[in-house]
Parts: sequence; C-alpha cells; structure tokens
Amino acid sequence: MEELFRPLIGATEAESVRALAGTPAYVYSEQLLRRRAAEVLAFPAPYGLKARFAIKACPSAAILRLFHSLGLGFDASSVYEAERLILAGIPAAEISLSSQELPADLGSIVRKGVRYDACSLHQLEEYGKLFPGAELSLRVNPGLGSGHSRRTNVGGPSSSFGIWHEKLPQALAICAKYGLRIGVLHTHIGSGADPEVWARVAGMNLDTLRSLPDAHTLNMGGGFKIARVPGEKQTDLQVVGRAVAAMLEDFARETGRHIRLEIEPGTYLAAQCGAIVSSVQDIVDTGADGYNFLKLDTGMTELLRPSLYGAQHGVNLYPAKDTGRRLPYLVAGHCCESGDILTPAPADPEGLLPRELPEAAIGDLCVIEGAGAYSAAMSAKNYNSFPEAPELLLRCDGSLALIRRRQTLEQIIGNEILP
Ligand SMILES: *Cc1c(COP(=O)(O)O)cnc(C)c1O
Repeated sequence: MEELFRPLIGATEAESVRALAGTPAYVYSEQLLRRRAAEVLAFPAPYGLKARFAIKACPSAAILRLFHSLGLGFDASSVYEAERLILAGIPAAEISLSSQELPADLGSIVRKGVRYDACSLHQLEEYGKLFPGAELSLRVNPGLGSGHSRRTNVGGPSSSFGIWHEKLPQALAICAKYGLRIGVLHTHIGSGADPEVWARVAGMNLDTLRSLPDAHTLNMGGGFKIARVPGEKQTDLQVVGRAVAAMLEDFARETGRHIRLEIEPGTYLAAQCGAIVSSVQDIVDTGADGYNFLKLDTGMTELLRPSLYGAQHGVNLYPAKDTGRRLPYLVAGHCCESGDILTPAPADPEGLLPRELPEAAIGDLCVIEGAGAYSAAMSAKNYNSFPEAPELLLRCDGSLALIRRRQTLEQIIGNEILP
C-alpha cells in the first residue's frame, strides 16, 4: 500500500513537463495505466469477462487507444461519448451506451453497432418502438447504494439512475409488448471498496436474473474505490472478484446458466495514473490568526473534485531552493472564486485543511496527484477564460508525448456571434 502514495510525477519530470508544455498541464503515466488495465482484465470471472473503461473518467483519444490496444472495451455515458469513441477509431462493437439522456437519434447510434443500455422505462419503450424483437441491456437500481457521499451515490432510493427494482414487472411488460430480450442486466451502484457490498449487490442481481431467462451477462458497473491519500480505502479487485465469482458458480450449479461478467471501472483505471503539474503564482497570508496561501496557476479549471466533494488529492511541492522548513499552507486555485481551494477538509468542500509542505517560493513547481479520472474530463472549463490545459503522456521509456494541446483564446471565443 505504501507505494500507492509515491509521487507519480517527481521534481525532474515536473520540470520536463513545464519545459515542454508549460503549466498547468496534465500528465498520465503509461506504465501505471497499463498496470491498472492488467489488474482489471484479471478480475475473476468463471464464465468470461468483458471489462469496459467508463470513458467519462478520462476521454482523451490517446488514452482510449491505449486501453483498446490492451483489450478493454468501453462504456459511454452519453451519445457524444459513444461518437467520440468511434471518432477515436474504437470499433462500435466495443462500446456500450448507458445514458441518462435518451439520445436524440437513438436509432443511428444503435445501427452503428453500439450496445444500448436502457436506463428508464421511457428509454426502454423508445428502444422497443425502434427495434422490436431486439436484444438489449437493462439498467436496474437494486435499491442499494454505497457512494461516499450523496453526490456520488448512484444506487438506492436517492438515486435516479436505472429502473427501480420494484418496477421490474413494468419493464418486463414493455419487453413483452415489443418482443425485446434482456440479454444483459446492468447495475452500477457507486464507489465501493467493501467486498461484502459487492457480494450483496451480486446476490440481488442474481435474484433478478431468475426472472430474466434470456440474460447471459451481468454487468456490475464501476465504482471500485481507490485511495488518493493515506487513510482512504483501495479496492482489492481480486478479493471483490472472488466473492462475486463464487456466487456466479453457485448460480450455475443451481440453474445451469453460465453468466458472463462485465465490469466498467472509470476511477480504478485512471484516477491514480494522472497528475497536474502547476507553478506557484503567488504566496500570501492573512495574518497571525489566518492562513498561508499558496496560489497556483491551476485550480477548479483543471480539478473540480475538491470544491465539489471535498475530495482529497496529494499535493507535492518541489522547491527550487530547499530551506529545510515546512509550513502549513492552504493551496488555492487561480479563479476569482473563494471556493477554488485544492485543500478542503475531507468530504467538506466548505472546510479548510492546511497541508504541511516545504517552504515555497514563487515559481516553484507544485504537483497535484490523483488527477487521472474526473479531472481533465470534469472541470470548470474556461471559467475566468482560462484555456483548457494540455495533456501529456509519460511513456514507458520515460519520454513525454503531448496528447492534447493547450486551448487558445481564439478557440474559447470561436462560437460567439455579435448580434
Ligand atoms: C460513471 C460510470 C462508471 C464508472 O464509475 P467509476 O466510479 O469511475 O468506476 C461505470 N458505469 C457507469 C454506468 C457509469 O455511469
């Protein structure tokens, strides 16, 4: 576990990133992306496994292509993500679409070969009208969630995602009306590291599968929690997987049905594999009873999670001149927004928790760790008209490849029209 918190990007690499692309910049480690993919692809599944990357976590084409080359499939959360995958050269047969929003042109994306996952009775009905007699995947909310906060909980009564388990008879009635076959049962209940929770959901899903005679595949979604800072829990995929595998084997003994397994991690595959390299822009303090602030050239424009959830990210400061002293700093983002703080209290975006860091000077490099998932993909993009930061891939051979350029001001205003 110790090695989990080793910096992804050290002082030398951070310096190279700044020289190549400037700051702020995202950097992903190819070596770690490959390792996480190998762990996911080794998830125990007695009757076959399809592992999909939930691309909303990190949708850059270079990452998608890398994962595709390693044998991962993909889960898209909107029709735009499905199209983005196709534009990146991913075969449609590798894509499943599990969308809160019914695509305006559902027919066209399904005809391309993308597998559709109906997430509500309305979506199921619309699919039935377009594709009577077809097979599909059905997302069910099993009535249990395990997210770390209400904002990340995607199962249970407070979540709108999927068809509420008590409404299964209505779903089956719609299927009967259009001759639809449910080939895949899908649930995604949110961030969890506890194997018992996974086993409980698997049990509920297998019970549901008894009333779905055509189902050959169980998709357990993503939500495998990872640790970004010491004290957070890291999922052991082998332990979770063995618990689920044993239940699939029992189910097979009892029913003769060999159920294939799918999982679709986003966080697990990417979160620890990326970091943001930034520079210290300013250092201010608010007096004896106040705080020392490190002001960076990054913030909620690259990383929204701290202000949104009070998420904890490792912060490593690499001073050009080491004074040997350490000081408590609040690390602030560059937006004119008091909520733009990178060191909130855990799970409390309103709270402040200073970090002990080496004494800093303006111009020092500061790296925010754990920024591979829901970072470049989910930020307060262009707030204060800051351009999107570039993305780089740190190759296995130690070289750096630019995988997305820094946005220009012209691109930010490109769609504006003066009346
Ligand atoms: C977001 C999402 C995932 C990935 O969730 P993580 O917590 O990042 O693993 C998987 N499946 C679906 C349907 C999702 O919406």
